[in-house]
Amino acid sequence: MNVLVTGGMGYIGSHTCIQMIQSGMTPVIFDNLYNSKSSVLDCIEKVSGTRPVFINGDIRDKSLLIKVMKEHDIENVIHFAGLKAVGESVEKPLEYYDNNVNGTLVLVDAMREANVKSLVFSSSATVYGDPASVPITEDFPTSATNPYGRSKLMVEECLTDFQKANSDWSITLLRYFNPVGSHPTGELGEDPQGIPNNLMPFVSQVAVGRREFLSVFGNDYPTPDGTGIRDYIHVMDLSDGHVAALEKVGAKHGLHIYNLGTGNGYSVLDMVKAFESASGKPVPYKVVARRAGDIAECWADPAKAVTELGWKAERTLEEMTQDTWRWQSSNPQGYPSE
Ligand code: NAD
Ligand code: UDP
Repeated sequence: MNVLVTGGMGYIGSHTCIQMIQSGMTPVIFDNLYNSKSSVLDCIEKVSGTRPVFINGDIRDKSLLIKVMKEHDIENVIHFAGLKAVGESVEKPLEYYDNNVNGTLVLVDAMREANVKSLVFSSSATVYGDPASVPITEDFPTSATNPYGRSKLMVEECLTDFQKANSDWSITLLRYFNPVGSHPTGELGEDPQGIPNNLMPFVSQVAVGRREFLSVFGNDYPTPDGTGIRDYIHVMDLSDGHVAALEKVGAKHGLHIYNLGTGNGYSVLDMVKAFESASGKPVPYKVVARRAGDIAECWADPAKAVTELGWKAERTLEEMTQDTWRWQSSNPQGYPSE
């Protein structure tokens, strides 16, 4: 199975390429390296034994996409490419709508011209807004509170309408909860540029000595220890979820929507403790004000993916923190720069 992987040099895309190769699929990576480095390709090769084809291109370049899909006999597309920082999206909404919404529309238009009718899209639990209850099932109402979230929601809605009008397409929306962790070899991991927005990369940079302390955004939420609760999922489980989606519904006409989460919630302080014990390093923290737009708790009901995809997140919190630490401690500055 030849699969075009947009954003395949990024955090989730690179891990997914490895799991695809291991499952006998052929990923063809299409990425403009806006938020990744070309050395990721060497790491994918080192771990998987295969060097995927890499095209340095932008998903808004329709003619290049068509050419690549035809040249490589592409049958499916997994679409990771996009911008993902919530705070930045508030400052630069146009860039977010252009990359995430317009970029996806150009990609689908190119797929139509190249006669490729199977798409898996990286969505997010952010489309559930502030859920009325937990765990969250796929039929919960959707909403958005910032341009990043709205871009994901807009794409979901565009793809839903498009699939309705094109019933011979398979379109899968995968709603990720909180991806963390790294490849267990320590060769690949998350390498945010600048100050990390997400909890785990920040915690691991504190543990490795790159940052002095973690700011805990609020301890007055209605949760057992007052800090926010999320459904952290190992990136390797998430990657396996993409392979399962391609295998189970990639050739099945229709719109398919799945939560990819574990069904377990951990607080910020749970994560700090787990990280300290995995790394043997202290993670000093200070409690500061709540971050605007944050919700108290969010975790998935993953039953639909379990039943229909035969996929279940299996890696433990210990594996998430140990694997993050292996990557961070052996690559304190992330991937080598070009
Ligand atoms: P990432 O930034 O590590 O990877 C995205 C990749 O897309 C990067 O390699 C970047 O260079 C590339 N890219 C960006 N714009 C592009 C463009 N216009 N053309 C071609 N390539 C482009 O991000 P990630 O964490 O791997 O996330 C992948 C996808 O999953 C994103 O769509 C993100 O919104 C979604 N997602 C991520 C999380 C998370 O916490 N990491 C959670 C939910 C959803
Ligand atoms: N968080 C925190 N300090 C940080 C980053 C995050 O206390 O430096 C908290 C945040 O308030 C939330 C949890 O950690 O409760 C997960 O945040 P993240 O940004 O990783 O994911 P998301 O907000 O998208 O769920």
